[in-house]
Amino acid sequence: MDNPARMVILRGMACDTDILIVGGGLNGPCLALALSQAGLRSTVIDALPGETRDAGGFDGRSYALALASARLLQAIGIWDAVRENAQPMLEIKASDGRAGEGPAPYFLHFDHAEIEEGPMGYMLEDRFLRHALLAAMEADPNVTHLPGVRVIAQDTSGPASVTLEDGRTLSARLLVGADGRQSGTAARAGIKRQGWDYGQTALVCCVAHERPHHGIAHQFFMPPGPLAILPLPGNRCSIVWSERHARAAQIDALDDDGYLEELRPRFGDFLGEIALDGARFSYPLNLTIAQRFVDEHLALVGDAAHGVHPIAGQGLNLGLRDVGALAEVLADAKRRGEDFAAIDVLDRYQGWRRFDTATLAASTDLINRLFSNDNPLLRAARDLGMGAVNAMPGLRRGFIREAAGLTGDVPRLLQGKPL
Ligand SMILES: Cc1cc2nc3c(=O)[nH]c(=O)nc-3n(C[C@H](O)[C@H](O)[C@H](O)COP(=O)(O)OP(=O)(O)OC[C@H]3O[C@@H](n4cnc5c(N)ncnc54)[C@H](O)[C@@H]3O)c2cc1C
Repeated sequence: MDNPARMVILRGMACDTDILIVGGGLNGPCLALALSQAGLRSTVIDALPGETRDAGGFDGRSYALALASARLLQAIGIWDAVRENAQPMLEIKASDGRAGEGPAPYFLHFDHAEIEEGPMGYMLEDRFLRHALLAAMEADPNVTHLPGVRVIAQDTSGPASVTLEDGRTLSARLLVGADGRQSGTAARAGIKRQGWDYGQTALVCCVAHERPHHGIAHQFFMPPGPLAILPLPGNRCSIVWSERHARAAQIDALDDDGYLEELRPRFGDFLGEIALDGARFSYPLNLTIAQRFVDEHLALVGDAAHGVHPIAGQGLNLGLRDVGALAEVLADAKRRGEDFAAIDVLDRYQGWRRFDTATLAASTDLINRLFSNDNPLLRAARDLGMGAVNAMPGLRRGFIREAAGLTGDVPRLLQGKPL
């Protein structure tokens, strides 16, 4: 940050950049690239070195990206770099399941052919998305990436500054926390969080299988938690398998053969023989929502604002909606000559995003509670309810559009329009 050409002058004060983004995971880089389109300069700081985050085995997740999220990636110049590794998601089937019994007949079936826009979304492995984001930040003159250094203090009394663990201080007009579920940015600002532990751990891996998946995603609702089987390019699927913490720890401790022995009776044989393809990962699951998404000269995006259950594969999609909404609010304020870091401008972002977040957090929470149990009465009632949704084409199409991220007040970037 010692390049004077990169200094921004604000009311006589020298700022290093327009916006400081703490967190270079997924939402932080997307926000920096989006803001660049409005001529806003960002510095993205991440505690982990770039090589660690770029290593193929860093994060085993694959993301079910809604169609609207893919449009945002297109609009910020990322999609062409990941397109050939993205698997179109053509259908979603949901059913009850019990280990050893295989899935019951599905009670929900969403088919992309019922809407006109194309696939509902795409499955994309973290390694491809992360690599493309790191390369795009490197190439963008409006983005400065500071990897391998932790933010330890901040001051947003006006405008905003952060202190890094190596003693440097950086300043900007606005500070954005994109630092994940345990956001230090939120904590340092005194923003409390609400939420709880789900008592579940998600076991994540990739499997290769004999038969083609035809772009169909499956969700089996097992008593301890859902098992999602999500199509990847080739005869491969990403597995997100939720178990109670203690059981997950036992399964996690098994060698690969033992792990597969546990997975097979849950997975069934509809895709033929299965084999592990790559490393195994585990993620404890909790709900954590910040009580406010904004403060003076400060905004939160992504998991820093809201970490939800992965049951509907919506966490990153929700974060990318934040990215699209915040970038739009800031860009519009800049065009009008407003102080984009002022609280009344930031309140527009919070007002836009809070309802969507609360609705999604509540519905994922409810679905997980309703489906992750073996109560026969609940089981019968929910299967009846799901069967009713499935039988109504209008309602079914509504859910498909919702899964594709096409409903509600969709930010311009998620409609594929320029900022
Ligand atoms: C099992 C599982 C499956 C999922 N599947 C899906 C899916 O299919 N679809 C979907 O949309 N979402 C999914 N999600 C959710 C998705 O993974 C998250 O929403 C997303 O990764 C959040 O990204 P983020 O950039 O907000 O935060 P993170 O990826 O957590 O990034 C935060 C970054 O901040 C950095 N950081 C933290 N503190 C500091 C500090 N003090 N100084 C500097 N840097 C710091 C960290 O190093 C990190 O890189 C899933 C989640 C789980 C657990």
